[in-house]
Amino acid sequence: MKHSLVRPQFVTHFNCIGSECEDSCCYGWNIHIDKQSYKKTLAHKELKELAQTALKKVKKSEGVWAQAVLNENGACGFLDDNNLCQIHAKAGESLLSNTCKTYPRMAHMRGNDRYESLSLSCPEAARNVLFRPDPFLFEQREFHHDKRLKSAPLWAEKAYDYSIQLLLKPGQPLELGLTAIGILMKTTDRVANQELKSSAIDDMFQQLVILSENGQLKQHFDGFNQDTDIHQMNAFTSIQLWLNTNKVRRGRSRFELINKAICALADDKKNISMASINQAWQDVALPALVGHEALFSRYLLYYFYHMQFPQVDALTPSEAFRVMLTDLFMLRCYLAVMAAYHQGLSEHDIIMCFQVYHTNRQHKANYSQYVTGILKQSKFDDLAAILTLLA
Ligand code: SF4
Repeated sequence: MKHSLVRPQFVTHFNCIGSECEDSCCYGWNIHIDKQSYKKTLAHKELKELAQTALKKVKKSEGVWAQAVLNENGACGFLDDNNLCQIHAKAGESLLSNTCKTYPRMAHMRGNDRYESLSLSCPEAARNVLFRPDPFLFEQREFHHDKRLKSAPLWAEKAYDYSIQLLLKPGQPLELGLTAIGILMKTTDRVANQELKSSAIDDMFQQLVILSENGQLKQHFDGFNQDTDIHQMNAFTSIQLWLNTNKVRRGRSRFELINKAICALADDKKNISMASINQAWQDVALPALVGHEALFSRYLLYYFYHMQFPQVDALTPSEAFRVMLTDLFMLRCYLAVMAAYHQGLSEHDIIMCFQVYHTNRQHKANYSQYVTGILKQSKFDDLAAILTLLA
């Protein structure tokens, strides 16, 4: 059967930078080796000796047949002194395990079409998405497969398309686009629940365009803007503490740098306040981000595409919206504390904040469910409250 393969330019132009990488994926996590690669590596004349100690058989499945043994620095045993992979150097890409061959490339099926993406836990992928020219130009090709997969529900397709249009509406500040998307998700909840027909999403979209043009959307947003420092701090510390438990070894020193930057904002009594993070955002981060105005809209476009927003995990559309705003809020806090720590933000700092957050987020099972629970406790479970995370 003929279907489409969709590939954005941030994927097309991705190349692993190997030994130049600031947080190599050959360090500090469980690198799974499939059965075929395991057997071929053990049979390869130049690799078999090293493979005896650098691979450990675990036989969990055909795909997880073995694991790379990490040395005392957390590095994969196949790395040489120049941080280059010896399997790749001596036997070529074909002998690499599927994990090593594909990471950070990922793909998801939507209906019968395949959408390619990259994981932001790779710094070079983050660089491609956030800074390289034209990351969201898409190429579409024919793609053959025989599986018949369930297509996405109409409400999800409409909510996805309209969310992108609301985000990219020319001349509209990001927070107003997000306010509109939040309102749209409330209608989408009801359509997904079969309380309304899917045409209610079209009607709401048209109304939101009018509200944006006549200034009423801004009035809505300003009305939502209450003083919620305590609740913001509760959300930030709960999530950061959780990310700090059972951390992956990969990128730990970079994560510790962010922890250090957070602690550096503490007062004499070692208390950190949301006011100090927000002040760092206003006084140092925002001026440092002049010239990077598209940073958050690029990130959100990636997020919508990569996560297939608002069909995220088992969340309702409004819950998916709240988790997305929380991700944005956490990243804004990371950028603020790093900006205060370095008295500015280099491209390297910005990439680190996005990549470290996503590496840790990705390694937490049930992240979105956990965040949804925290948001409830922190009283961010309605639209008015959650939008104050953008204040
Ligand atoms: S994290 Fe990305 S750039 Fe770095 S070594 Fe892995 S694939 Fe290459």
